[in-house]
Amino acid sequence: MDFDFVNFDMPIFKMLASNDTGEASGHQGGMVIPRAIEHFFPVLSSEVTAASPTVEKIIWAELFVGSVYLSTVNTRYQLQTWGGKRSPEYRLTNGLSALRNEARGNDVLVIQRSVTDSNLYRLTLVKQTAKLFEQISERFNGRRWGALYQDDEPVIKAVAMSEVARQESMVEQPFEMFDPVPRILERRTATIARSRAFATVVATSYQNTCSVCGFALTLPNGRSEIEASHIVPRSRAGADDVRNGLALCRSHHWAFDAGLFSITEGRTVYVPEVVLRIGANAHLARHNNQPINLPIRLERWPATEALSWHFENTLLRD
Ligand SMILES: [Zn+2]
Repeated sequence: MDFDFVNFDMPIFKMLASNDTGEASGHQGGMVIPRAIEHFFPVLSSEVTAASPTVEKIIWAELFVGSVYLSTVNTRYQLQTWGGKRSPEYRLTNGLSALRNEARGNDVLVIQRSVTDSNLYRLTLVKQTAKLFEQISERFNGRRWGALYQDDEPVIKAVAMSEVARQESMVEQPFEMFDPVPRILERRTATIARSRAFATVVATSYQNTCSVCGFALTLPNGRSEIEASHIVPRSRAGADDVRNGLALCRSHHWAFDAGLFSITEGRTVYVPEVVLRIGANAHLARHNNQPINLPIRLERWPATEALSWHFENTLLRD
C-alpha cells in the first residue's frame, strides 16, 4: 500500500465527480467535500453572514498522484453558502490544479491528515487505471466516499474539539506528570487526538513563540516552526498536559530533548558548563540564566515537578 500510516492518520476517500476535476469547463477550481466526510476536516467558525458568505481555513496539502509526489500547496477548506442562493457546500479550493488536471471523473482522491499537524493534509489521486485503485477498490463497498477502512476511521472534528477542551480543563486538577493510561493500550485515533490537542494548547498558550528565545520562523502562509515539547518526554510516559509542555523553536526543542539545557524551578534557562565550553553553542549560551517566556495564564505555566524531572534525568552533566 502506498499510504503513509506513520505520519498520517487513517485515510478517507472520495470518488471524484467530473466537476471536481480539470475536465469540467468553466469550473471553479475546487473539489466538493460531501457532508458525510466533512467531520474529518478542520473546525470552521460558524460566522457566515450575507456580507461574508464563506468561512474558510487555509490548510497545507502535499499532493501526490499515486506514489509520485507533485508539490506542497496552500489550499482553502471552505464553507461556501452562495449567499443563500444555492445549497451550502464544503469545498477544497485553490492550489489544486496540478492534481485536478490529472484527475478524471471516477478517479479517487484519498485524503489523510498529519498525526501531529492538524493543518497538514496529504491528498493522493488514485487513477482508475492504477494498480493501487484495484487494490483499494474492494474497500469502497459501493460507497463514493467515507473512511477507506470502515472499521478504522480517522479522528473526527468533535473528538478533536473535545480533546482540546479536556486538556485545557486539566489545569483545574492537580498535575499528574505521567500518563495514567499506557498509550499502547489506547486506540491510535485517541493518541493522535491527544498529540494534536497538546500541540495546539501549548502553542497557543505561549502565543506561538519559543519560550527560550522568543522567536519562531514563519512561512508567508502563516505556518510557524514552533513545536510543543514534552518536558517529561512521551517516550517516558510524560503526560499530554500543558504543564508538561514548553513551546520551543526547532533548534531549542532539539537542544532541550538532548539535554543541552534545562529549566530551573525558578523558570530560568540553565546551560551546564560542558555545553557552554563548545563554541558552536554560543547562541544557546547567551540564554543561560535568563528567565523563559511563560504563558499569560499562570495555571498553564510548566510544573516545577516536571522541570525537576528534566533537570535530573535529561540534562547533560559536567
Ligand atoms: Zn528558540
